[in-house]
Amino acid sequence: MVMDGIPLVMKYTFPAEDLYRPFWEGLKRGEVLGTRCKRCNTLYFPPQRDCPKCMGSDMEWVGVGKSGELMTYSIVEQKPQGFENYDKYTIGIVRTEKGVNLMCWVVGTPKVGAKVSLSSDGHRVLCEVKA
Ligand SMILES: [Zn+2]
Repeated sequence: MVMDGIPLVMKYTFPAEDLYRPFWEGLKRGEVLGTRCKRCNTLYFPPQRDCPKCMGSDMEWVGVGKSGELMTYSIVEQKPQGFENYDKYTIGIVRTEKGVNLMCWVVGTPKVGAKVSLSSDGHRVLCEVKA
């Protein structure tokens, strides 16, 4: 027996507090930014207000790297609300050249272990698979 379902609505919220303003402004310029602790030099993505490693609060905004390696990916065919107008798309996890992991929108044919370049289209982190 199959029962008819009800629509599943998922609401995504993005932090808009001042902490993340440089991140969103960076995406508009095509840059992907994280924060780095000035005391112990640890790089964080997503950006952190304080350093969990040394408990310092002197953080600065830095690029997380322009390239990386595609660690894994998932092809999305059942698109969530708000993405109905896209063709199927691929979301990946990339480890950047500076050693942080981030989620991104994959451009090109994905392959685990592939080298990718990181950029932004103004509102999303893109990783383009290098041929
Ligand atoms: Zn630190």
